[in-house]
Amino acid sequence: MPRIFNIQRFSTHDGPGIRTTVFFKGCPLACAWCHNPESQAASPELMVDADRCVSCGSCVPACPEHAISRDGEGRIVTDRDRCAACGACADACPAGIREITGDLQLPVRDLVRRLLADRMFFERSGGGVTLSGGECLAQDVSYLEELCRTLHGEGVHVAADTCGLAPREIVERLLPFVDLWLYDVKALDDEVHRRYTGHGNAPILANLEYLADRGATLNVRVPVVRPVNDGERDIAALAAYIRNRIGDVRVSLLPYHTAGNGKYRRLGRQVDARAFAVPAAEHMERLRQICIGQGLTDVEIGG
Ligand code: SF4
Ligand code: SF4
Repeated sequence: MPRIFNIQRFSTHDGPGIRTTVFFKGCPLACAWCHNPESQAASPELMVDADRCVSCGSCVPACPEHAISRDGEGRIVTDRDRCAACGACADACPAGIREITGDLQLPVRDLVRRLLADRMFFERSGGGVTLSGGECLAQDVSYLEELCRTLHGEGVHVAADTCGLAPREIVERLLPFVDLWLYDVKALDDEVHRRYTGHGNAPILANLEYLADRGATLNVRVPVVRPVNDGERDIAALAAYIRNRIGDVRVSLLPYHTAGNGKYRRLGRQVDARAFAVPAAEHMERLRQICIGQGLTDVEIGG
């Protein structure tokens, strides 16, 4: 059963209106700038906000794997190679700084029941449910199909927020029940895409074209990361591809941000050493104008 690391209610991003977004754990890409690093691995993980540790030591004996100890200066350290993500230390920690992310698993009917609790907000705002991640399409296809079919049957608007790297069969099976595809394209240059995400973009673009050819409602979303893909020529080429091959769909230019950097520390990981920078607001507007110049009429910054 898919693992969920967050259910965010009353979101005004990730599609129209007021939405509830389900964040599934696990992603086939490994984007170097990912601001949800806890979403990348499919398995549950321990997160520790060590800066708030009061060194009480309650977690040390609680760990059945003997993964927690004090270092020579009395600080609490966790051996992540030993950690089985059981959550015992989180239960023992009086400061509440340890948590397991991705330990929630819900049968479809239970998840639907939770989601429908906000149906009134969806109906009044033109909102709905967004499936996100991690990568929602990396989850069990039967589960996804049942979830989307049930929500669709209840009259709930369903959006899929995807990186597009998924077997065609999954896209085909969800197509009848997904009202909006929030479709990430990280880079048109295959080599750049491979260098920063770990995969080439050919299957991603093929799925995007498949959806466009079937009349799916698409919102192409482009994370703009300096210096990966923020060049004027990069964006012009991508905009031309979208306009000529996909159509005059909504395009969202999403400026890179560093809000997720603290999560790397809490996961015991390093932020990617390659220096990514936040594009300036004027540059984002310049890129937006370049997209418009390529014939796209619905281009937003953010979204
Ligand atoms: S999650 Fe479990 S195994 Fe991991 S450090 Fe905490 S108690 Fe030990
Ligand atoms: S139980 Fe929590 S506050 Fe106490 S030492 Fe462990 S991590 Fe720190």
